[in-house]
Amino acid sequence: MNILLTNDDGIFAPGLQALHQRLADRHTVDVVAPDQERSAVGHGITLHHPLRASRVALNAHFKGYAVSGTPADCIKLGMFELLANRPDLVLSGINPGANVGINVNYSGTVAGAKEAALYGLPAIAVSVQGRDVVNFEDAAAFTESLAEMVLHRGLPRGTFLNVNIPNVPFAEIAGTVVSRQGNGVFADHFEKRRDPRNRAYFWPGSDPQVFADDPDVDGAALEDNFISITPIKCDMTDYDVLERLRRWPWES
Ligand code: MN
Repeated sequence: MNILLTNDDGIFAPGLQALHQRLADRHTVDVVAPDQERSAVGHGITLHHPLRASRVALNAHFKGYAVSGTPADCIKLGMFELLANRPDLVLSGINPGANVGINVNYSGTVAGAKEAALYGLPAIAVSVQGRDVVNFEDAAAFTESLAEMVLHRGLPRGTFLNVNIPNVPFAEIAGTVVSRQGNGVFADHFEKRRDPRNRAYFWPGSDPQVFADDPDVDGAALEDNFISITPIKCDMTDYDVLERLRRWPWES
């Protein structure tokens, strides 16, 4: 199959290289990824600057386009300008750091897959829990088998999978859970500091997210050493509220 890889960590990131290494022998793999780290840019696109795409080679087997934009830019530019063939599937990652709960809203990794889903392409965003990732290779192997299942069984247009993998040896993984997105917020705070001219500045804190004790929730499943697989829709309409809103007295 034709697979397009992107990420939000930059084209030289080890998680993307692990996916490429896993897939390149058996598939046609294109890489269009940001030229620098773009984590937490969400689904932003570049409108007020030109985009540049440089051909880069990491080794004899790994050539790709490094784009001066976001993951969503990479998907658009790849599909409409750079690639000879429309991909059969888009993979975004592998991100070091879980993208569960409300992080799904901020994640550039997730947005790469979401952008592909907007155009009707099957897509998977993949992250591994933790920053010091020890095992991208097993995560890449799991991603390959999941990709084959997605292509075989299909996903509705506009829906993609957000996958999070525990950072443990594969033998210790408890299984897979088809999960839903958690909505617990961070215990958010900012660290307020003073610069040398006595003006205040702020660093966002990094408290962990708290998840309901519900094995169906993405972050809770991950903490129990399950791989969490959450289907995410591009259509953000709340259909329950839509029905109720329609009964509001709009004409009066
Ligand atoms: Mn990232």
